[in-house]
Amino acid sequence: MGSESDMQPLGPGSHGAAVADVQAALRSLGLLEPSSDGVYDQATELAVRHFQQVRGLSVDGRVGEETYRALSEARWSLGDRLLHHDPVRPMRGDDVTNLQERLLELGYDAGRADGIFGRETETGLQAFQRDYGLTADGTCGPATLRALRQLGRKVTGGRPQLLRQSASFVDSGPHLIGRRIVVDPGHGGADTGVTAGETTESDLVLDLASRIEGRLAAAGATVYLTRGRHQDPTPAERTAFANDARADLFISLHVDAHDSPHARGVASYYYGTGSGTSSTVGERFADLARREVVARTGMLDLGGHPKTWDLLRMTRMPAVRLDVGYLSHPVDRLLLLDARLRGTVASAVLAAVQRLFLPADADPPTGTFVLPQKV
Ligand SMILES: [Zn+2]
Repeated sequence: MGSESDMQPLGPGSHGAAVADVQAALRSLGLLEPSSDGVYDQATELAVRHFQQVRGLSVDGRVGEETYRALSEARWSLGDRLLHHDPVRPMRGDDVTNLQERLLELGYDAGRADGIFGRETETGLQAFQRDYGLTADGTCGPATLRALRQLGRKVTGGRPQLLRQSASFVDSGPHLIGRRIVVDPGHGGADTGVTAGETTESDLVLDLASRIEGRLAAAGATVYLTRGRHQDPTPAERTAFANDARADLFISLHVDAHDSPHARGVASYYYGTGSGTSSTVGERFADLARREVVARTGMLDLGGHPKTWDLLRMTRMPAVRLDVGYLSHPVDRLLLLDARLRGTVASAVLAAVQRLFLPADADPPTGTFVLPQKV
């Protein structure tokens, strides 16, 4: 892709080299068919909208500066180039985000996973390199990548100190006694939510909610579901229920669908205006729950997003909505139809709840927490 400055927004009707650049970027992300030809057609607009949606950009189907920059950054995947801290021109891209996320999952403080290689990322990377016997030069090259890859997607290693702490936490038994948690399966009754053949969102999320209820209860929590199979409470009824129950945490469950067959992955939402005001605990839980699900299922991470929805706004406790996969995506659908996978998602949510109520210094790396056998 060409220069970032002085860019005329591209949209339906645009054509030429700039459009071809955009289409190449969309194709490399698997969002556009190979047949696109430099004309900003409907398929291009749809792909741009989808890209904007999953990136949390304003969804207008046009490519202005912001979307163009995000597309440029999305070109990089981990291993494409050497990553290091450049104070003058900080390196940006999805490869940086990926590195930051891996370090965070392993328990290293690499700053926010914002896709910008800053001082904190360098410090976190050096700590990782030291612990794994690599040259602690703060540069992510082949040796560091190999070490990161050997640890796999599902992290089973981590810093010995953290592992010791989490082991003693596991030994200490059911930790959620006294916690009141409301689990809210979306839709219900006549409102099925999104569907794929016989499969309905309302049934899937009720199944998930029941599995989560079982695991949380086994860990000592008091759990309430906002609905049964045949009810469809309004958002006001759901939030009033949680408020009356004096819940410590509210977890709403949904499954997504999209016109684009490429849309897939897990997103989480917490209360926030996007311009400063947000629920800190909500944001933390949204992050923990999504990361645990992604680490354990391999689904795509669509990030956490602040929203002012009634469901999140009218609850008096930290409230999070988790959208687990796209019923319209062939792979996500297969995963969601697998009962074992739904059990895995429930375990991931349990681990996130445990971590939320766990002292920060004893927090185990993502993907490692297991419920003690004796419970
Ligand atoms: Zn839904």
